Amino acid sequence: MESKYIPEPYKIKMVEPITLLPKEERAERIKEAGYNTFLLRSKDVFIDLLTDSGTNAMSHYQWAGLMLGDEAYAGSENWIHLEETVKDLFGFKYVVPTHQGRGAENLISLILIKPGMHIPGNMYFTTTRAHMELQGGIFVDVIRDEAHEPERDDIPFKGDVDLEKYEALIKKVGPEKIPYICVAVTVNMAGGQPVSMANLKAVYEMSQKYGIPVIFDATRCVENAYFIKKREPGYENKTITEIIREMFSYSDGCTMSGKKDGIVNMGGFLAVNDEDLYRQASGLVVVYEGMPSYGGMTGRDMEAFARGLREAMDYDYIRHRVEQVRYLGDNMSSLGIPIVKPVGGHAVFIDARTFLPNIPQNEFPALALAAAIYEQSGIRTMERGIISAGRDKEGKDYYPKLELVRLTVPRRVYTRSHLDYVVDSVKDVFEKADNIKGLEWVYEPPVLRFFTGRFKPL
Ligand SMILES: *Cc1c(COP(=O)(O)O)cnc(C)c1O
Repeated sequence: MESKYIPEPYKIKMVEPITLLPKEERAERIKEAGYNTFLLRSKDVFIDLLTDSGTNAMSHYQWAGLMLGDEAYAGSENWIHLEETVKDLFGFKYVVPTHQGRGAENLISLILIKPGMHIPGNMYFTTTRAHMELQGGIFVDVIRDEAHEPERDDIPFKGDVDLEKYEALIKKVGPEKIPYICVAVTVNMAGGQPVSMANLKAVYEMSQKYGIPVIFDATRCVENAYFIKKREPGYENKTITEIIREMFSYSDGCTMSGKKDGIVNMGGFLAVNDEDLYRQASGLVVVYEGMPSYGGMTGRDMEAFARGLREAMDYDYIRHRVEQVRYLGDNMSSLGIPIVKPVGGHAVFIDARTFLPNIPQNEFPALALAAAIYEQSGIRTMERGIISAGRDKEGKDYYPKLELVRLTVPRRVYTRSHLDYVVDSVKDVFEKADNIKGLEWVYEPPVLRFFTGRFKPL
C-alpha cells in the first residue's frame, strides 16, 4: 500500500496546547451538547476535525501582514492588494469582497435567481442551496451518478457534471429558467471529489451554447487543481497557478470562501467578468456586508487573505495538504473502516451506513457515530447525512444517499502523530460498533438544522 508520508513543509514557531479530558468527562460533555458535535466547547476537544473552515494556521508571512492592516473606511491598501491578487490568479475583471463564502452566495443568488428558477449544480452544498431556496430557486443535482456511490474508487474525477443530466434539464425547463450553473471545485458534499479540466471545459461550452452563465464555487479550487495535476493527462508539468488560470477561464464568475483554500480564518469574495453584475453586487454588498472595498473584512484580514492565496498556489504546500488527507484515509481503509473512495482533498468521510448497519437513516447513524468518536477519543468530527440535508419545501426530510461522518483536516495544523491517533481511535470505535445506539430529536431548528439541533439516544 502506498502510505508514504511527506514530512510537513513547515516548522512550528508558536504552539497552542490541547488536552484530552478523562473518559467520564467526555461522556458528560457530549450529553450536554445534545449529542451534536457542533455544540461542544472547543476547549473540551482534543483533536478538532469538525471542519477545515477558518481553522487554518497562517504563516509567519501572513501574521506579519496583519501588522500592515490599513483600516481606512475606503480605499484600503490591503483591499487593493487583495483585489489585484484575485484578478491576477483567477483572471476575473471584477472582485467584490464579502465576510465569507456565504456572503458571496447571498449576493449572486439575490441578483440572478427569481422564484421558480432552476439552478443546476454538481451536488448541493448546505449554505449555497439555502441561499438559492431563499430566493425561490430550485436546486437540481447534475453530478455524475457515481458521486453518490461511496465504494466506487475507480473514478478519478467523481465531481464531474453529467452533461446529459444538465442538457436534459435545459431542455425540460428552458434556458431562460436557468440563471446560472453552479460548479463546485472540488465537491465538498461528495467527499472533496475533484472535477476534471475536460469536464469544466465541456460544461462551459454547453452553457455558452444555451446562454447560461457558469459560476464556480471556488472554495476548494487549489485542491482541485492539485488533483488535475496528479490525475489528468497533459497537466503533470503545469504549475498550480497555470492550472487555476485555465480552470477559471471556463467560468463567468465565482464565489469563494477564503476560510478554506485562502488559508485564512475569515474572508471571501465574489468575482465576475460582467460589468452590470458587478455594479449590482457592489450595490448590494453595501447593504449586507460593508463597503465594496472591505465587504465585512478588516484591512488586516484582507492582507492575510491576499498572502494566503499566493501561498496556497505553492506546490509543496498543496501536495502535503492533500497527501496528508490521503494518508489518514489509506490507513483507515487498510483496517477495513468503510470510507468514501477515492479519498478527496480536505477530508476523510466514513460511510456511516456500512459502519453502523443496524441503525436506520431516520435514527441518524452518522451523528450517532460522530458522538461515539468524541466519547472514545476527544476527536471532534461532523455529521454529513440526513441531518445536514434538511427538509424540502413541503417539510419532508431529504434522504441523501450518502450518510457520512466527516473527518476534516485543517490546513497546516496537525502532524502525522495526530493523524495516527485518529486512526487508532476510529479503529477502537469500529470494534465496538454494536454498542452504538441511534438518536432522536429533542430540538429541531427550522433552517440549517445541523448547526444547533439537539438529540438524545434512543
Ligand atoms: C465552506 C463552503 C462554502 C461556504 O463558505 P463559508 O465561508 O463557510 O460561508 C461554500 N461552498 C463550499 C464548497 C464550502 O466548502
